[in-house]
Amino acid sequence: MIEKVLIANRGEIAIRILRACREMGIGTVAIHSTADADAMHVRLADESVCVGPPQVLDSYLNKNAILTAATISGADAIHPGYGFLSENADFAQMVEEHGLVFIGPSFEHINMMGDKITAKAAVKAAGIPVVPGSEGAVTDPAEARAIAKEIGLPVIIKAAAGGGGRGMRVAKTMDDLEDALRIASTEAATMFGSGAVYVEKYLETPRHIEIQLLADNHGNVVHLGERDCSLQRRNQKILEESPSPALNDSQRTEIGEVTRAAIQKLGYRSVGTVEYLYEDGKFFFIEMNTRLQVEHPVTEMVCGLDLVREMIRVASDLPLSIKQSDVRFSGHAIECRINAEHPETFMPSPGKVGLYHSPGGLGVRVDSALYSGYTVPPYYDSMIAKLIVHGTNRNECLMRLRRALDEYVIDGLDTSIPLHQRLMEEPDFVNGNYDIHWLERMLDL
Ligand code: ADP
Repeated sequence: MIEKVLIANRGEIAIRILRACREMGIGTVAIHSTADADAMHVRLADESVCVGPPQVLDSYLNKNAILTAATISGADAIHPGYGFLSENADFAQMVEEHGLVFIGPSFEHINMMGDKITAKAAVKAAGIPVVPGSEGAVTDPAEARAIAKEIGLPVIIKAAAGGGGRGMRVAKTMDDLEDALRIASTEAATMFGSGAVYVEKYLETPRHIEIQLLADNHGNVVHLGERDCSLQRRNQKILEESPSPALNDSQRTEIGEVTRAAIQKLGYRSVGTVEYLYEDGKFFFIEMNTRLQVEHPVTEMVCGLDLVREMIRVASDLPLSIKQSDVRFSGHAIECRINAEHPETFMPSPGKVGLYHSPGGLGVRVDSALYSGYTVPPYYDSMIAKLIVHGTNRNECLMRLRRALDEYVIDGLDTSIPLHQRLMEEPDFVNGNYDIHWLERMLDL
């Protein structure tokens, strides 16, 4: 059994992992940059090690410094959280070569899913429906035109190594296509170090629906239903909910089962999320994330499970604590991502927090590293809190979310709380009628 975990992350997710460790009686080692010496994840951990200066390349992405921190602190496992090194196959392999446990999937699976072209081919072969498009990388404009002719316009050109909602370009006409291909490939090369791009059908009004999976080393694979993450701005998620207002029970069971069976065939372990676009009653795979997701608490609230605990169990070679037949979905959960940014201009707003008061009460969960007097540094992601609310049904959940947002006080910074409050009053959102472009349309109005 794992006895001491080094958490290779910061902010709310470092605390989230630390909480699971503590409840399991496992020791914790925090890492931090010099900018994070006062951070809450450092204060709460049993031990902490400074791994470098503020810039992420020198600290939170500094593999050698992190491995050294694990060695000197006597940790026997590393949890990467999300972002940073969580989907870096080289790091996962280095961790194992150092005789430590990587709390996540095998580096082979991280590699397979990290390249969207190999990922798409692998899941397709395992029985998952994919977006129609090229079989592999496309470089030749004539080939791109032939594919566009076959699948129909518009098409989207995507970087094989893309992530974080970046590295995508839409072509609406055949004339656009050549430029889009060239620009996407050049951007991909500078942003992701690989210029490989592929072409797929651009779906115009889909929802983003993803399936949460859990798998152990003993052949057990469980799906935990879906999350609807269609509320996006610039391809980045703002709010997530489970269950999706767009699915009924039989659709949920069907896509969950198809996904579960495919992941079992691939021999995958730990947590993972298969992301789909959903349009006109059909699902189309876009990518698989081989890590814990930001929005995982939504699933925890409706399933009554601790996903980090399950990850640690699997990494200790224990079986999952549940079988598919034990999974029960109860009520409705919504997560609001709260960013330190202006609610209308989206300008980042780092700085010192004045008064801080987080909401509470029945069905309310706040995952955050904020406290009164804390200074949000300018170097990292702008997400400063996640407000997750559970109710017996969607309507109760919305009522509870409104009152929780009203209770939340974060003085000194601009935050996206007013944006969420505005959303709660939009009839389309209240009725569950939204697709991946709805939020941008609303913001333009
Ligand atoms: P990333 O790894 O950058 O998150 P994804 O492949 O998961 O990239 O896509 C992110 C978002 O981009 C999706 O949620 C969706 O909004 C949009 N998108 C991706 N592929 C398509 C497509 N074929 N048609 C329409 N929108 C797409």
